[in-house]
Amino acid sequence: MKLMTACAATLAVALAFPAAAQAPARPQIETKKVEGTEGVYIFRNGNHQAMFIVTKDGVIATDPVAYGRPTGGQQYVDEIKKVTDKPIKYLIYSHVHFDHIAGGKAFKDAGARVVAHENATKRLKVLKDPHTVIPDESVGNKKTIKLGGTTLELSYLGLNHSDSTLVMRLPKEKIVFIVDTIPVAAFPGRGFIDIYPLETEEFIKKVLAMDWERMIPGHPGPGDRLGTKKDAQDVLTLMQEASAAIKTDAQAGKCWDAVEKDFKMEKYATLPGYANGLGMVARRYCALWGRGA
Ligand SMILES: [Zn+2]
Repeated sequence: MKLMTACAATLAVALAFPAAAQAPARPQIETKKVEGTEGVYIFRNGNHQAMFIVTKDGVIATDPVAYGRPTGGQQYVDEIKKVTDKPIKYLIYSHVHFDHIAGGKAFKDAGARVVAHENATKRLKVLKDPHTVIPDESVGNKKTIKLGGTTLELSYLGLNHSDSTLVMRLPKEKIVFIVDTIPVAAFPGRGFIDIYPLETEEFIKKVLAMDWERMIPGHPGPGDRLGTKKDAQDVLTLMQEASAAIKTDAQAGKCWDAVEKDFKMEKYATLPGYANGLGMVARRYCALWGRGA
């Protein structure tokens, strides 16, 4: 009987949204071990995800990803508990944006120490978001966490998508966790609203110079694949091309209206997010080259 109801519901969805029905069912929440690692996991909630590492002496978690999801933080803690009975020692914020870091209370209650870049802490103390825990510890340019045989390096490489992004690197596993600044095979979108475009190019060059092979992104890549250095290079190239194109128009006095209306990057037209993201990219580079901001 239950099955019948589910089928009826699926059929109704299929009739209303034929495209949605073709996609395989995807649970809202999912935890997957990263292939070839001993204890590196990805926790995904909807279209957001975070890395956590299980060691023999405890767990290092990142980003609660629970903005607008009142139970998301606790659900993440519960997912960790399904994998290990070790205590959660750390919760590390990737950057200040609430869609990634809201929901940390469950981690704090479980005894985790909340760590973020100092710019994130400063901002959070001003904003006092009711859903976002103020960090216990602030990091400057560098901090290394060692726990149960795992080493996790936190590096601040300058302004980029935010002013508070920590690049998290597992040197032994050659994995980095970098959120939002380097989307995997997706066109930049709303996140461009407050990006630091020129500084981001330098940031990506620094990331490319680091020793890593796989990148866990803050939003799942196509088919949940992890990012590579080629993905990082592709984002850098895309930004350089967008910047150069709009620079010319901006200096010819065409910002904002003409550029926002006419800007195209046809070679990227098949990337997810292209149609929606174009206007945002045009606007941000107009702000840079046509306004000086
Ligand atoms: Zn962000």
